[in-house]
Amino acid sequence: MGPMSARRYWVTAPPGLSDDPEPDDGLPPDDRRRLETIDDQLVEAGFARDLDQDQWVARTRNLDEALRLAAAARLAWSCCDEDLLRDCVTVSAQPECPRCGKLARFHDRGCADCGAPLLPRVDLDPETGEQLPVR
Ligand SMILES: [Zn+2]
Repeated sequence: MGPMSARRYWVTAPPGLSDDPEPDDGLPPDDRRRLETIDDQLVEAGFARDLDQDQWVARTRNLDEALRLAAAARLAWSCCDEDLLRDCVTVSAQPECPRCGKLARFHDRGCADCGAPLLPRVDLDPETGEQLPVR
């Protein structure tokens, strides 16, 4: 392990269609098709469905790749009326232990295995990759 602590980046995007859609949810067919297209584009970009959170997630250790994924997700949502959802695309950096390399949970301050102090979890601007102020 070098002096640079590695991170893993999580990119999340809102789902188009809920994974458990009501058969009679009153959604007009055009809207349904549009949302399905968004979901398809996210799959194509490399996202996987997170069923627990009902969102799309992609993970990578490469920041450029994370920003590319975020851009793809924002693009998928920008072709829709739901422009606000485009701004729900997030990029978070999950710390990795500098001593043993274990990935930490987002809220851990120290490594659960070896106790080494960890970099804090941070959220990044999905467009620039700059660190956002801690919420
Ligand atoms: Zn460790």
